[in-house]
Amino acid sequence: LIMFNQVNKWYGEYQALTDLSAEIRSGEVVVVCGPSGSGKSTLIRTVNRLEPIQNGQILFEGLDINGTSTRLNQLRTRIGFVFQNFNLFPHISVLDNVMISPIKVLGVRKAQARKEAMALLERVGLAHKADAYPLQLSGGQQQRVAIARALAMKPPVMLFDEPTSALDPEMVGEVLNVMRGLAQEGMTMMCVTHEMNFAREVADTIWFMDAGKILEKAPPERFFTRPSHERAQRFLSDLR
Ligand code: ATP
Ligand code: MG
Repeated sequence: LIMFNQVNKWYGEYQALTDLSAEIRSGEVVVVCGPSGSGKSTLIRTVNRLEPIQNGQILFEGLDINGTSTRLNQLRTRIGFVFQNFNLFPHISVLDNVMISPIKVLGVRKAQARKEAMALLERVGLAHKADAYPLQLSGGQQQRVAIARALAMKPPVMLFDEPTSALDPEMVGEVLNVMRGLAQEGMTMMCVTHEMNFAREVADTIWFMDAGKILEKAPPERFFTRPSHERAQRFLSDLR
């Protein structure tokens, strides 16, 4: 579903991604981990073109995402993205946050959009907050609304960049539970996270990054018990 082909990315003189190649299959859950500054956010942001790349190619559903004929808006409606900071619209209700894009972008009728939005809020455990405003919610609740909002577009893939790292510890679990549910339903996911228990339990494949490269791609059983790369071993032992 997503293919990175020899991707190189520079910020000015600084090379943030180097000859990076990788692939995400439909239904696969990839967890990207690695030390701070290794390029995890940069990589995930290249997928919906929040970060341009200088050379190489990224294919999404077979389409070159940097191709001249690829429409950015169209691309982004197909890719759900949840960041560290929830980025909800503060001046409209939770329900409206979830309904607005399907109506405005996809042309879904209002009654239908409302019905689907309520079902999504139900699923993330927040139907009772439909009429609240984002700032009246806890961080964990806001992040679950952000996930519902992304899902409202029915994207074939969801990207998560440290969705729980800005949350108080007691709220991390509720967000991870929603993500776990999505994974179980077969959603294709690319997640940057430091939640190693989640990674171990939910990922099909772990990508370990360092200095702009993926040093290791492995199923979690193998990655966590016998990582082949010395740098990955060091990373894991620093966590303990
Ligand atoms: P963290 O775990 O801290 O979030 P990360 O793995 O997500 O780290 P990135 O944010 O992708 O790392 O950054 C990779 C490298 O690129 C870092 O050295 C960073 O300083 C650099 N970098 C990131 N964004 C920019 C930018 N907008 N301009 C210049 N350099 C940048
Ligand atoms: Mg990051």
